[in-house]
Amino acid sequence: MTVHDGMYIGGRWRPAAGPDTIEVVNPADEQVIGSVPAGTAEDVDAAVRAARAAFPGWAATPPAERAALLGALRDELAARRDEIATTVTAELGATLAFAQAVHADLPIAVTGSYARLAAEHSFEEKIGNSTVLHEPVGVVAAITPWNYPLHQITAKIVPALAAGCTVVLKPAEDTPLVARLFAEAVDAAGLPAGVFNLVTGLGPVAGQALAEHPEVDLVSFTGSTAVGRRIGAIAGGAVKRVALELGGKSANVILPDGDLARAVTTGLANVFRNSGQSCNAWTRMLVDADRYDEAVALAAQAAAAYVPGDPHDPDVRLGPVVNAAQRDRVRGYIERGLAEGARLVAGGPETPDGLERGYYVRPTVFADVTEDMAIAQEEIFGPVVAIMKYTDEDDAVRIANGTVYGLAGAVWSADEQAAVAFARRLHAGQVDINGGRFNLLAPFGGYKQSGVGRELGVHGMTEYLQTKSLQL
Ligand code: NAP
Ligand code: MG
Repeated sequence: MTVHDGMYIGGRWRPAAGPDTIEVVNPADEQVIGSVPAGTAEDVDAAVRAARAAFPGWAATPPAERAALLGALRDELAARRDEIATTVTAELGATLAFAQAVHADLPIAVTGSYARLAAEHSFEEKIGNSTVLHEPVGVVAAITPWNYPLHQITAKIVPALAAGCTVVLKPAEDTPLVARLFAEAVDAAGLPAGVFNLVTGLGPVAGQALAEHPEVDLVSFTGSTAVGRRIGAIAGGAVKRVALELGGKSANVILPDGDLARAVTTGLANVFRNSGQSCNAWTRMLVDADRYDEAVALAAQAAAAYVPGDPHDPDVRLGPVVNAAQRDRVRGYIERGLAEGARLVAGGPETPDGLERGYYVRPTVFADVTEDMAIAQEEIFGPVVAIMKYTDEDDAVRIANGTVYGLAGAVWSADEQAAVAFARRLHAGQVDINGGRFNLLAPFGGYKQSGVGRELGVHGMTEYLQTKSLQL
């Protein structure tokens, strides 16, 4: 167990203002693996002042120089790839293979993408007799969750830095260790003091103080809709910019001519990766009446490959969920599904065999899920899939759009144009056609209550810019 006692503020590690600490627990075995300081409003204030002091210099740094420093940051992250992966496995419980391929490699790639974008982007445009300047917004507060802990850090911090903003990060209390690794990489890359600052702490204390700080110009938050609503209200009250990446209940729509076996197995893999803790997971599977029973049988069969276990074991595809509260919440939803009359075809609320220690959940598939059920409407954030039946395309569109969320989705059809036409009718920010692969330059974000604003690529960077028009 490693005791960390510093906050990264103004380009150095310095002691926290208060004595409180947060213990970091390994969800695979419930052992305490480290502790970090629990920041207070005093730490937050010091960090925001450091970011404010660094802002004019960083904003005036030519984009090519900012880009070069982000390239150095990419290299420092890449040099820590194994440490990042083992840290995320230890504090989140993601399988090591997934931690390497996604939790480490994705943020490295995203950082590289902004090193290129910052160099290429034109921060000025001509519109008639006007020159329009795209200027950095100022000091950014980034509040991030635990489910993709480093990805969500880089998806906010790196575009903000590319745009010329300075940042204070409050990472999730469950996953602060990889955030510290990020700060070490920033330090090693030689970014100027105060451009990036880290305050670990609890959401209602450090997070709230950061969102409320008058010297913060933009708050970027990823997490639950409940907290996002509060952050939005605080930002609105202060007339600050805000970006919210919230929950989802995305639909995997298998049209009658879609490749059923592939759609079902890909759909299950999509939900079960990261132990079901993905905001964009396709947690509702929509199948037509003719192929419904076949889809249910395929899903039950595919679920059997996901035996929960030690995330270090290369044969294990499903690790634990992040903490005891999350385990109880997921199991509670499984019990609720049973009580609502959904048909259990795989998994269930019981502790998986031989896994009394650790926060494990059985990968669960429900059939005969109807729209009125909580498991069809609410984000469970665990390895639980709800299979639903539709009568025709209009019905499938109606069901797919029938939640408060609108983050992602999938459509499968033998006719790609038909799938695209269907996707145009979905109220969601990202739709994958026939298993189309993730694009880290494509804008990511939600319709409806899934959020406000976009991350990744050039759209993710312009969130951190404001325009000034000069009439000549
Ligand atoms: P959360 O409370 O919304 O946490 C997200 C971040 O906000 C964390 O850094 C958290 O700090 C911080 N926070 C909490 N309360 C705050 C406040 N009053 N002011 C400012 N910041 C605050 O999410 P959670 O409790 O970890 O998870 C709860 C549920 O949210 C999950 O079951 C899931 O449904 C959803 N969720 C969604 C996403 C997503 O990507 N859309 C990600 C994570 C969770 P602490 O870490 O100290 O709480
Ligand atoms: Mg929380």
